[in-house]
Amino acid sequence: MDCIFCGIIDGQIPSEKVYEDDLVLAFRDINPEAPVHILVVPKTHVSSCDMINGDNSSLVSAIFEAIPKIAAKEGLSNGYRVITNVGEDGGQSVKHLHFHILGGKKLPVHLC
Ligand code: AMP
Ligand code: ZN
Repeated sequence: MDCIFCGIIDGQIPSEKVYEDDLVLAFRDINPEAPVHILVVPKTHVSSCDMINGDNSSLVSAIFEAIPKIAAKEGLSNGYRVITNVGEDGGQSVKHLHFHILGGKKLPVHLC
């Protein structure tokens, strides 16, 4: 399977890692859209939010347990945004489930 984020998880593709545990990896987005822009991914390949089910939803719990730790480490005490894009209309460019953490400035309110 040709997946950039699986390549990052495997260590085949370099990344700037900011957090890691048994189930979750977080690294800086290569094209940041805010002063802090981190991607949080499950270490197991799940293609998008649309593929979450009872068998893999524990990965999502693990991601959302990691997010506050990452935010605290990055100094995002004034808030941040968590986004996941799904499929073509959602603007998903990498087909490995990921949650963007965006922060470090006051973000625009409108998402679309
Ligand atoms: P999305 O458009 O929601 O699928 O987001 C994919 C994100 O992955 C984009 O913000 C890209 O900048 C980011 N990205 C793509 N390749 C890499 C990479 N090798 N390392 C870090 N971030 C990447
Ligand atoms: Zn993958």
